[in-house]
Amino acid sequence: MAYDPNNIFARILRGELPCKTVYEDEHVLAFSDIRPLADVHVLVIPKGAYVSLDDFTAGAGPEVVGHFFKVVGEIARITGVAETGYRIISNIGAHGHQEVPHLHVHVIGGRPLGRMLP
Ligand code: C5P
Repeated sequence: MAYDPNNIFARILRGELPCKTVYEDEHVLAFSDIRPLADVHVLVIPKGAYVSLDDFTAGAGPEVVGHFFKVVGEIARITGVAETGYRIISNIGAHGHQEVPHLHVHVIGGRPLGRMLP
């Protein structure tokens, strides 16, 4: 799938739409999900134009990919969920029910989340 530069997260990155920023650096932005599923629900996105983890892990270098996941862990510590446990989810493509076509990892925690996989 080609990257759509007008997707909603691209517009957030350009400052055209607001977000509640939790963390930002040169390569990564993290912000609160507008429809939180738990007390902590943060989306972590790369600033680069990637549709999903598929093109990100295939196309970005190991330092960029590694830094991204370092930030995911940092978000868990910043928000406090690292102490009690949390879940990370990245929906990819049609079968993954991805709604926004810019890579994002959900960091969800702050309550017991229940069993997800059978
Ligand atoms: O299914 P997918 O992982 O693509 O979900 C997109 C997420 O982006 C949803 O959890 C939705 O609440 C969130 N979102 C947001 N801010 C927007 C648009 C969507 O936090 N402006």
